[in-house]
Amino acid sequence: MRKIAIIVFLVAASARAQVTVIRAGTLIDGTSSTPRKNQTIVVRGSRIESVGGDVAAPAGATVIDLSNMTVLPGMIDAHTHIFLQGEDPAEGGYDIQLLKYPLAYRAARATVAARRALEQGFTTIRDVETEGAGYGDVGIKMAINEGRIPGPRMFVVTRAISTTGGYNLEGYAPEIEVPKGAQLIDGPIEARKAAREQLANGADWIKVYMTHRSWVDKQGNLVSQPTLTVDELKAIVDEVHGWKKKVACHAYGGEGMQRALDGGCDSIEHGLDLTDANVAQMVRQGTWLVPTLSVYYTHNEPADTPGGKRDRKRVAVHGPSFQKAMKAGVKIAFGTDVGGFSWSDPIAQEFARMTEFGMSPMDAIRSATSRAADLLDMTGDLGVIAPGAYADIVAVGGDPLRDVSVLKDVRFVMKDGAVFKPAAQ
Ligand SMILES: [Zn+2]
Repeated sequence: MRKIAIIVFLVAASARAQVTVIRAGTLIDGTSSTPRKNQTIVVRGSRIESVGGDVAAPAGATVIDLSNMTVLPGMIDAHTHIFLQGEDPAEGGYDIQLLKYPLAYRAARATVAARRALEQGFTTIRDVETEGAGYGDVGIKMAINEGRIPGPRMFVVTRAISTTGGYNLEGYAPEIEVPKGAQLIDGPIEARKAAREQLANGADWIKVYMTHRSWVDKQGNLVSQPTLTVDELKAIVDEVHGWKKKVACHAYGGEGMQRALDGGCDSIEHGLDLTDANVAQMVRQGTWLVPTLSVYYTHNEPADTPGGKRDRKRVAVHGPSFQKAMKAGVKIAFGTDVGGFSWSDPIAQEFARMTEFGMSPMDAIRSATSRAADLLDMTGDLGVIAPGAYADIVAVGGDPLRDVSVLKDVRFVMKDGAVFKPAAQ
């Protein structure tokens, strides 16, 4: 009996100390401004032990040869929705998700979405609300962390918060009570209570909608309806910061954006129409921008309709707004709103939009690695290939600094030191 116990112990110990050596032809480590050639990465258990050009492979290590590839940290998408599936109008759009689909069906599809993120090399996501699926994100995260289903590390926000008149579903007879895609509050007391409920039930971040409807006015400006008051938002931010967590705010521009900044949001999501004053305030307060550029190019309504004019105006103002923020030194983290577009589309299409508007490929990669890790308070743990970091490592075939589109074709994925997608030989 004793001998068996010792053997079991040794097997368990060696499984814990599993050592893998990766030979990287080119290494982009997530923080450095230049890549390095012919690097060796030693992974012990779930963490990176050492990285360098003259690192010897420990005896008995499993060697993975990526010498003809570019190796990068596992990427981070800081704005996803695993409980949305592209909202294709031909498939019933948004409303059908809440009105006709059982939660188990939505959870099943969320499981596939989570797997899709990992397959594409996104080893971490901040999933910014379940759109009527309650605390489903907490459940999916639990199943991933227990190793029951494959998926990225998840930072979840649960239900999100808006106000009466500030979120879908809308447009039904007032006599009919329809479900809402977010938790609606009115007044600072309800606002704080909603934040407490969500935090108590597993939210890592709190998501707030600071603008809702938008349209083009007579002068041709994009106008967005504000939702929470500054007092309502401040109650949420105060509560969440007390828990040492952060608040992500959906905001397009105008009054709602001003309230988002005055109320102390930690990250502005989308930020379609930032003024110079908004940008200056973001720099002063250290507010992050998660721009989600590419989603606004999908599913636009016909050009000659009010909705179509709005959709085109959103696209027209977004690029210059992003450029303004970038030039002023606003902290920018990569986010896509995937789920707002189909999970079968490449998440990494966002890189081409960021570089089209003047961000360098290396900065775009850093926004999806070390910078996004900073946003998540995971500096040094995620988004970097360096000793001590989690062994979340991906590889692509070409040179992403010459052509960011190669990031759409991730050939190797390791998460937590375990290979999820082996490199095709
Ligand atoms: Zn979103």
